Amino acid sequence: RELPADPDTHLAPRQVLGAAFSWAEPTPVQAPRVVAVAGDVAAMLGIDPARPDFAEVFAGNGTIPGMTGYAMAYGGHQFGQWAGQLGDGRAIGLGEVLTARHGRQELQLKGAGRTPYSRGADGRAVLRSSIREFLCSEAMHHLGVPTTRALSVVATGDEVVRDILYDGHPAAEPGAIVCRVAPSFLRFGNYQLPASRGDTALLRQLVDFTIRTHVPAVQALPAGERHAAFFREVAERTARLMAEWMRVGFVHGVMNTDNLSILGLTIDYGPYGWVDNFDPDWTPNTTDRMHRRYRFGHQPRIGYWNLQALAQALSPLFDGNDALQAGLDAYVQVFEATDAAYSLAKLGLLHGRGGDDELVADLRGVLTAGGMDMTLFYRDLALLDVRAPHAGVLGASFYSEQERLGVADALDAWLVRYAARVRDDEATEGERLALMHASNPRYVLRNYLAQQAIDKATLGDNSGVVELLETLRRPYDEQPGRDHLAGRRPDWARDRVGCSM
Ligand code: AMP
Ligand code: MG
Ligand code: MG
Repeated sequence: RELPADPDTHLAPRQVLGAAFSWAEPTPVQAPRVVAVAGDVAAMLGIDPARPDFAEVFAGNGTIPGMTGYAMAYGGHQFGQWAGQLGDGRAIGLGEVLTARHGRQELQLKGAGRTPYSRGADGRAVLRSSIREFLCSEAMHHLGVPTTRALSVVATGDEVVRDILYDGHPAAEPGAIVCRVAPSFLRFGNYQLPASRGDTALLRQLVDFTIRTHVPAVQALPAGERHAAFFREVAERTARLMAEWMRVGFVHGVMNTDNLSILGLTIDYGPYGWVDNFDPDWTPNTTDRMHRRYRFGHQPRIGYWNLQALAQALSPLFDGNDALQAGLDAYVQVFEATDAAYSLAKLGLLHGRGGDDELVADLRGVLTAGGMDMTLFYRDLALLDVRAPHAGVLGASFYSEQERLGVADALDAWLVRYAARVRDDEATEGERLALMHASNPRYVLRNYLAQQAIDKATLGDNSGVVELLETLRRPYDEQPGRDHLAGRRPDWARDRVGCSM
């Protein structure tokens, strides 16, 4: 249903009723140039990165036989408010590849031009946000965190006008397109939209499609149990995802319900960030600095809030609320269990026992008070001599001498307790170190590292992007010669965060 055109842009927004998607084709770009390709994603898909039309196809200028473009219809709660229809305003699906070992994988170009859901915006993405999404998707995957992946980032040769920069003038920036890859890009908001319109038939069709296509274990259940099992599955996957984000220090930044994957994947890398100095109140999202709704330490509670919104949307498919409440309860239980297990694993402890919860909570208190670098602290903690614990091994994780002195006594006291707990643990020293190294990455995509790679790429030098991609493929390994990618955030980068658009 076409609505009256916007008097300024002359563009007509549409409400797409009775359908879950619209056909849409990428708008061609000037001069596609490949910036980077993830070789293992290309191999998974059976796509040769050296094919001569690669840049053209993955900039939306050409197709591989079988590709058909479409944009999904979804709605969402943005910062807690129902926003109505949103939809893929700049992402265009190309189809699915049935892979040999990784099942169904959908390809989607982000920044491929306008769709019926673009409203007043241009459907494009800038190089810097595209590189950020490309690198972080791959970094998360190799950290073991469920995520959409990225095949490629291709510069378009077109300029995109985005944020208002210097002197109030809108600045033109290079545009780019990321090819994202996932079993599905369905979001909570895809189910909320038909529900919000009372279209229960479409809602049911979409839920049943999702179960049939993506959740075989639920499809195998008797028909009458599937919807309850589906919601529970979504809740449990979301719980595990939140525990993963907390484990690695990732802050999504815009956990609106249109940015939560129904398959429990990290999706939509916008103003995300990585915790450097440990701070549960930190958010990378400058538009959320006031309320800090999506701050680091709040993410698990937002996961619950979003599941409540999804439960509300699915409720027409249920008699009463018991099954939906059971799913929400499962979220809490799975998050708490997983988070507790990960917190212990980060300390090299395999099995919990009485007192461990306090040990973990007290460490978080010390880390917050001292503002230590989360990644360096946990990684270096493995170097502690538990027969003679000394805070010296953690020196590199402090951002200031003042903060170090401020928590020195509390940290010493904690280390003594921790060392005693480790000495008393049944795990061998070797087992403890292996567990710690597998739980605490050496390399994460610190915001300033991404920015340095972006600055180079903007000048036509892609080597920074390639170096980060290579390094972040093995985040738990010590990589000689790559110390410059493992250090503390430098002072000049303190309040620099990425932008979303
Ligand atoms: P986000 O905040 O990135 O999750 O996006 C929220 C909504 O705005 C989604 O419907 C996006 O498709 C849409 N959107 C964001 N950026 C653009 C753009 N440059 N052009 C068109 N639609 C956009
Ligand atoms: Mg989004
Ligand atoms: Mg976005």
